[in-house]
Amino acid sequence: MSVDGHASSVVVVTGGASGIGRAVCELGAELGWSLLVVDADRDGGSATAQYLEERGTNALFAYADVSDAADVANYVEIARKRFGRIDGLVNSAGVSGVLAPTAEYPVEVFDRVIAVNLRSVFLGLHQVLPTMIAQGQGSVVNVASTGGLIGVKNHAAYVASKHGVIGLTRTAAREVAALGVRVNAVCPGPTETELMASIAAPSAPGAVPQSQTDTPMGRHGRPDEIARCITFLLGPDASFVTGSALTADGGLITLS
Ligand code: NAD
Repeated sequence: MSVDGHASSVVVVTGGASGIGRAVCELGAELGWSLLVVDADRDGGSATAQYLEERGTNALFAYADVSDAADVANYVEIARKRFGRIDGLVNSAGVSGVLAPTAEYPVEVFDRVIAVNLRSVFLGLHQVLPTMIAQGQGSVVNVASTGGLIGVKNHAAYVASKHGVIGLTRTAAREVAALGVRVNAVCPGPTETELMASIAAPSAPGAVPQSQTDTPMGRHGRPDEIARCITFLLGPDASFVTGSALTADGGLITLS
């Protein structure tokens, strides 16, 4: 499947070393995409690229701290040099921050979470949209969260960053809608990845975590389930979809 009609689609995936980003890379490879795997984790990112290459995919790893403007410019340049175009961008890199009430939230952690989760998405759009606009074609999916739609106690930085991601998505989508470029967001609920394990509330050994019982479907999501939403939004089946924030959360958001 091509991204918005281009025969051999080139897709850049940040956070491609792990979790949802890695699942997007694996699914994208099955769809025949060429992939630039971007991550600050050199070992994990290289492992994803190697996995893809061993299965015949045209793939490459590029190191970047996605909160750094020079690193973002560098991964865009690598994609252009290697593949000659950029049809898709998936902004999946992210961090959770710490669990603390707003009144006690450490300022330096707040700044870092905003930089990695929100500034990165702005920088990615800022650097990649000119290429897509020049092509007259392209599609971006930003990984937000149900935390981008509701308040979540003890998650001030994460929630603020994800609300910001949805705002950026809507704004950029309006700006480029008539230029052949679509920009969407996906809002996963709790999904089985390292990031979720790092913020899961401690529970007794063997007990079902509250985040699971709180979800109407009674379970967490899997990275491949979120990846399928992302590839849908990125690809031609979503040709009339832009500026959307698609929830993939087992019904969690219906409770708010
Ligand atoms: P993950 O920890 O498995 O993957 C995150 C990836 O981002 C890692 O490979 C990590 O190395 C990379 N990364 C972190 N900081 C970076 C930086 N500064 N520069 C470049 N790469 C960096 O977690 P995940 O759950 O797959 O998270 C992917 C996205 O999904 C995140 O944006 C996260 O906020 C979002 N999300 C996750 C859940 C969940 O429950 N897992 C729910 C909603 C949204």
